[in-house]
Formats: sequence, structure tokens, C-alpha cells
Amino acid sequence: MTHPRPKILAIDDTPENLLTLGAVLAADFDLQIATSGAMGLKLAMESPPDLILVDVMMPGMDGFETCRRLKAESALKNTPVVFVTVMSETESEMQGLALGGADYITKPINVEIARQRIRNLLEREALRTKIEAQRDMLEVLLAERQQVEDELRISAVAFASQNGMMITDASGVILRVNPAFTRLTGYSAEDAVGQTPAMLKSGRQAPLFYQRMWEAVREKGYWQGEIWNRRKSGLIYAEMLTITGIFAGDGNISHYVASFTDITEDKEAEAEIHRLAYYDPLTRLPNRRLLHDRLGQAVAAAGRSRLYGVIFLIDLDNFKALNDTRGHDVGDLLLVEVASRLSAVVRDGDTVARQGGDEFVVLMEGLAADIEDAAALAKQRGEKLQDATKRPFLLGDYEYHCKFSIGVGLFQGHDSVEDLFKHADLALYQAKNAGRNGMRFFDPAMQAALDLRSALEAELRDAIQSQQLRLYYQPQVDAARRVVGAEALVRWQHPQRGLVLPNDFIPLAEDTGLILPIGYWVLETACRQLHAWADDQRTRDLQVAVNVSARQFHQPEFVQQVLDVLQQTGAKPHLLKLELTESLLISDVDDVISKMGALKEMGVGFSLDDYGTGYSSLAYLSRLPLDQLKIDRSFVMGIETSETAVAICAATISLAHNLKLQVVAEGVETEAQWHILSTQYQCDFVQGFLFSRPLPLDAFEAFLLRN
Ligand code: C2E
Ligand code: MG
Ligand code: MG
Repeated sequence: MTHPRPKILAIDDTPENLLTLGAVLAADFDLQIATSGAMGLKLAMESPPDLILVDVMMPGMDGFETCRRLKAESALKNTPVVFVTVMSETESEMQGLALGGADYITKPINVEIARQRIRNLLEREALRTKIEAQRDMLEVLLAERQQVEDELRISAVAFASQNGMMITDASGVILRVNPAFTRLTGYSAEDAVGQTPAMLKSGRQAPLFYQRMWEAVREKGYWQGEIWNRRKSGLIYAEMLTITGIFAGDGNISHYVASFTDITEDKEAEAEIHRLAYYDPLTRLPNRRLLHDRLGQAVAAAGRSRLYGVIFLIDLDNFKALNDTRGHDVGDLLLVEVASRLSAVVRDGDTVARQGGDEFVVLMEGLAADIEDAAALAKQRGEKLQDATKRPFLLGDYEYHCKFSIGVGLFQGHDSVEDLFKHADLALYQAKNAGRNGMRFFDPAMQAALDLRSALEAELRDAIQSQQLRLYYQPQVDAARRVVGAEALVRWQHPQRGLVLPNDFIPLAEDTGLILPIGYWVLETACRQLHAWADDQRTRDLQVAVNVSARQFHQPEFVQQVLDVLQQTGAKPHLLKLELTESLLISDVDDVISKMGALKEMGVGFSLDDYGTGYSSLAYLSRLPLDQLKIDRSFVMGIETSETAVAICAATISLAHNLKLQVVAEGVETEAQWHILSTQYQCDFVQGFLFSRPLPLDAFEAFLLRN
């Protein structure tokens, strides 16, 4: 390919001047002629030449002006302009060069010099263009290099991070690792480079795990997850690992970058939390929560397999006494030892758990499909548990013989975990009652009692709302047999069962908390009655005694409750007497005294019920702000035949009188009893069938009229 010939534009108003030059130049160049500055401008803009010759002296627009205008065009600003002139004054040359002219050719033209100058100028221009192009290229290269440097700096910072990092080639050979990698794995860069990440394998993950991991990286270019690895020291640690594939221009992965953090501590904390939540810290056995989880699963599994499972509820006898006398450290020793002995005799898959306190539970599954067989097996296994605990326990230097009671509950899938525990609990209760160190199975008779109890509970709940409770009044009389008041006694008018007496539902109410609404109802009803009696002079001085349960009394708001009821009903406080039992005084005597004090200040009276059947400590008798003692029916019953009973009654009456307390005897059924108590020992008041049974309100009022 021939090089295109340079294009020259000559501008001159007298073209003859150029003819000689033109003839010479035409051999080497493409020559174009313009006869005025304006025409030259037009041609130059239409097709930019490589060089322009311009005559200085032209009419209209002279050579200088033409040059100025040419230079103003951006396409032409680098095109060399050569002035052709006769003038050779330095001043005028200067003017042309200042306008951007490149050179001068003076007339008459020396052709050889002109040709050489033109060639030089063209070469110079070509060179300049080339240099400019190179400079542009250099700038681009510089900018690119800057970008690469920035990226390198960023990756250097990233590589210096706290995360362990490793870069491998496409085949998984390690090319680089960072300092954190060395810190976390124990392997230096020299150790690692050239190896593959398999050097870190812990063996804890199956090959399939790695296979899936690499599949994901290849498909998505990315994988993240937790993985167990092994340090150089051999220690296994957990890491959170991210693998990223680096894709090359051809779409294939050229490198892998792995970044990881050590999450062993997180894992350990997680495990610790799990342990705390599901294991007993002392014995390291599963705790109640984990046991209930497992039991839930066991019941479901038994439902599917139809094979009976069993739970043993194991309770240490007299553990509290050991704790109290030898201290908690010794108690703890025993618990740990019991845990290990029980664990030693069960089979793999059985669960030994600590329910809390001194109660252990053993769960066994898959006994037998037939209940008799299952029960026989359970009995055998239970005896093994008993045997394990028969040998004395060595607690420090102290040899301890521990006895156990065991309640056994079988299950086959239709029981709820809750019921199951209830059953085993009931069996345990019976085992304890039957003498300690025994084992008892839950049986259908127990079940019947349990069913009755839960039916009663539901009905009792309903009884309060359905207004089935009745308040009966049993008269209390003084030495002259005048009625001074009554004890209010609750009954339950059951739609099917008839009149249910308190002994058949108060204990249940105490266990379930229903005693609170019941007690409140009794108190309110009695107070309303006091107010109703206030208008009639035959009844307005009657005192009413109301029984208060321990649970009721121990409510923090009990005092306020009584005061509110008094206020709402308008009953006079000094006509209300609260009967407390000794059991109420076992705990928190100070609180009891302060509550009694607060009520007493308002005028409310207190009587100590069932005196003699409980702890009967003289110490608290003198501390409590009591008004009355009630001698229990069991002593009254015996006074006609037993001298001890007489002695107890006599001593109680005299003790009470010394403490400035009145005495009420309850359960007086005969004239003889009345005589001994009232006449012989000056008992202040008496209550019993001799005068009247507890009566419904109208019968009680009728009784008052008769007397
Ligand atoms: P308690 O407070 O010792 O009540 C006296 C019990 O002895 C009453 O039995 C009464 O009927 C009975 N009784 C009275 N005189 C004689 C007698 O001469 N012979 C015989 N055999 N028994 C006599 P009840 O009404 O069955 O009450 C039993 C227990 O139920 C009460 O013993 C009391 O502890 C509790 N209770 C009754 N009502 C309430 C109540 O409203 N609240 C609470 N918390 N407990 C109550
Ligand atoms: Mg009573
Ligand atoms: Mg009593």
C-alpha cells in the first residue's frame, strides 16, 4: 500500500507566483490552489490539508489575518502555515510567527530550500502527532496502573484482616495465606503454600459434606457454612467459612478465595447454654426440661410401637434431714453419688434425670406389648435400681444408709406426659405412705381415685360460680348456755352428690388454690350476715367465727381484703373472729404476727383452732395477739374415760387463762363432757352437737328463737 501523498494548500491572489513552486511541489505532494484568504479558509475547512502556504500580501484579507482565522479552527490549529513573502523585515516575520505561522519562504522562491522546508515541517508535524498519540496512550496506561494499585492496596488491607484467608488456584493448591490464617490454624505460609486445604480436615465431616460444598462453589461461585477443622497442634476447632470462586475472562474459575473466622468459642458458648438449659449442673444429668422432652418423644414412640415404656420416680427418704444436719455439701455429695449409681445400672438409651431436689427419674422404653409382661419387666428393672442404692454411701468420712421410695408409671402412648407424672407421683406417694424404702406401681384403683379427684376439681371450680356453696352456722354457748355466737362452716350443695362436707373438698381446694375464692366467699357471706343481724337486738351481739386457711392468710393482700370486706358489708370488726390453725404458724411467724396485729388494731378477733393437734408451742402462744384457744374435739371426746385427756384439757384451760385467753371447747356431745369442761374447769365457751349441729341460716335463726 502506497503512502498517501501529503496535501498542500497554497493561497495566493496571483497564482503565477506559485506556478514555479507548484510545478516543483506537484511531484511530491497533492497541491490545491486558492486565490483569496476566504477561499483558502473554505477549502481548508472542507478538507484539512497537511500544510498551508499563504501569501502575506493579498487584497482584502491578508496572509496574517488568514492565518489567524485558520488557527482559530480546531481542525486546523496544528496544521503548519508557511508564509510566502517578499518582505524580510524581522518585525513582520515576528508578526506571522506570533500568529502561529510555522515558517517563512521568501520570494523569489528558492525551490530546493522551499521543498526542504516543507518536508521538514511535514515531518515535524507527523512527529508531533505521533508524540501526542503516545502521550494519550501513556495517560490511559497511567490511569489503568493507578486503578490496579488501588485494587492491590485494598486487597492487601483485606488480606491483613482478622479473618483467616487463603487463595488457591483452580485445582485447589494453596498460593497464598495471610497472617490470620497462621494465627488461627498454626500453619505458617511455608507450611501451607503448595498444599491443599485438605491439610485442615478434621475428619468430623463426611466426604459427602465436602462434595456438596464444592458443588455449590462451582455452581454458584460461593459457599458459606460452619465447618470443623484441625489445627497444626491437632486441636479441632469450628470455623465459619466462606469460599468464593474468582472467574477469569473465559468464564472459568481461576482461583478460590477462602475466608474464615474461628467460632469455637461461639460453639462452646452455645453448647454451654444448651447444657445449662437441659442439664442439672450438679449431677450433669438431664434436667426436668430435657426429661419432659424425651418423655414426650417416648410416649409418641410407644404409641407407634405399641410397646410399653416406664418411668420410675425415685425420691430419697429423709434427704432434708441429712441436709439439715450434715450441711448442703454433704447433701450434694449424696446426690452426685446417687446419680452415678443409677446411671451405672441402666442400659444405653435409658434416661436418668434429676427432677430437682432429691427427686430422680428413670425413663425406659420398649419393654413389652403386653401389660403384664411390661409390668413384670418394670418390676425387675426397678429392683435393680433399688439394689444399686442399697450399699451405704460414703460421704466424705461419713457412712450413710440412704433409703429410697419409688413410684412406677407404665405408658403406652395414650397418656399425656402430665398424666404420666401424676400417676407415678401418686404411686410414689403411696410407696412413701406404705413405709419408706418401697416401690409402688400406679394401678387402676389409684386411677379411679385420681379421676374422681380431677372431676371434683372441675366441679368445685364451677361450684363457686354456680352458687352451690352454702354457709352453715354452729352455735357457741357460754357457761349459762346462752348463744353468744356461731362458727361459720362451709358446705357444698352438689347437684348430684348432695351435701358435701368440708373434709371432702377443702383439702382439694387447698391443693388447687380454689381455697382462695372459697375463703373469700365465706368471709364475705359471714360479714354480710353480721350486718343483717345488726338491726335485731336478739342477734346484734352475735360473734361469727370464720375459718381461714394458711394459704389464704399468707396472701400479701389478706389484711386489706378483710378490711375491704368489712367496709363493703358494714359488719362491725369486733364481731368477726378469724380461726387460724397451728399449721399456719410454721412459716414466717413475723409476717403472721404483723398481719394479726394490723387486723387486731381494727378490732378483729383471733382464735387458735384445733389446739393440741399441731405443734402447740408455748413460745408462739405468748407472742401471738390471740383472743381464744379452741380445744380440739379429739381431747374433748376422751375426757369421760381418759385421765390424760382430762389433764390436757385442764392444763390447756389454765394455761390459756394465765395468758389472758378465753377457751372454747369444740365437739361437746354429752352432758358429762359439758359438766367437766364448764363447771369443773371453767371453760368459757362450748360448741358441739349437744347444743346443735351446724345449721343453715333459717334453722340457725329458728334455734336462736327457741333458746
Ligand atoms: P373445724 O374448724 O375444727 O370445725 C369444726 C368441725 O367439727 C366442723 O366440721 C363441725 O361440724 C364439727 N363438729 C362440731 N361439733 C361437733 C360434735 O359435737 N361432734 C362431732 N363429731 N363433730 C363436731 P365440718 O363443718 O365438717 O368442718 C370440718 C373442717 O373443715 C373444719 O374444722 C375446718 O377446718 C374446715 N372448714 C369448714 N369450713 C371452712 C371454711 O369456711 N374455710 C376453711 N378454710 N376451712 C373450713
Ligand atoms: Mg374451725
Ligand atoms: Mg376445730
